[in-house]
Amino acid sequence: MQVKLAHYAGACYGVERALSLTVEAATQYEKVHTLGPLIHNPQVVSELAASGICEVDSVEQAEDGVLVIRSHGVAPQVIGQAQERNLTVVDATCPYVKKAQKAATELREQGYAVVIVGEKGHPEVEAIDAYAGSQSLVVQDPADLPAQLPDGPLGIVVQTTQNAAHLEAIVSALKQRGADPLVKNTICFATTQRQESAELLAHAVDAMVVVGGRNSGNTTRLAQICEQVCKNTHHIERPEELDPAWFTGVLRVGVTAGASTPPEQITAVVTALQQL
Ligand code: SF4
Repeated sequence: MQVKLAHYAGACYGVERALSLTVEAATQYEKVHTLGPLIHNPQVVSELAASGICEVDSVEQAEDGVLVIRSHGVAPQVIGQAQERNLTVVDATCPYVKKAQKAATELREQGYAVVIVGEKGHPEVEAIDAYAGSQSLVVQDPADLPAQLPDGPLGIVVQTTQNAAHLEAIVSALKQRGADPLVKNTICFATTQRQESAELLAHAVDAMVVVGGRNSGNTTRLAQICEQVCKNTHHIERPEELDPAWFTGVLRVGVTAGASTPPEQITAVVTALQQL
């Protein structure tokens, strides 16, 4: 069985930056906390915990030392709370997430009601929402649009890891209802590259394996994109999950991985597939 790796797969700039800022902080400070899991990859988070970098659920749980803000970003008030507690803040918010936060702020200041295309409850979306003002709406697909749209002009900001097709579907549903939203497409280049190369590869193989945390939204969306093209698609976290029965009669298998999957996890899966 031939194993092909997507041209763009795995850890992105923002995740690598967050990891290196955190590891660097741990060389300088005794106590380093991350606000929530640093990345949506349980294996990497366990390794960080084993090296003493602890996860806290709230600013109050960190008594002293460093508080790392992960690549998803936070509401501005959270940084203020950390500073009030005299914590040293290491802000690892990805610059592309900051761009989405800035777009939400600008739309709000210009009088737009902000529609955020993204996953409800996702930390990045909650942080963007905090910049978007009280008139904002979070919409994952057209069915989430309320019967009564906000008064006045609508502006759109997008979770950086969203699927472009979701964005298009929501813009088109709004247009059908007579709105003319101003779209700030803040999907990041790393997401676009990974989604496009996964889809391209899924067309050329008999099975696809998508590697990454089950709690990772961008990995889940990669799996959804692949599944639309190649029904024999499987989302796994570790090579032990590979089931040889998935590959009966398969000549070519494609591998891709989410933006929070480190290279060694991808290599382990590729090696296991080559040994099947
Ligand atoms: S997926 Fe994009 S926005 Fe998110 S951390 Fe990676 S580079 Fe940054």
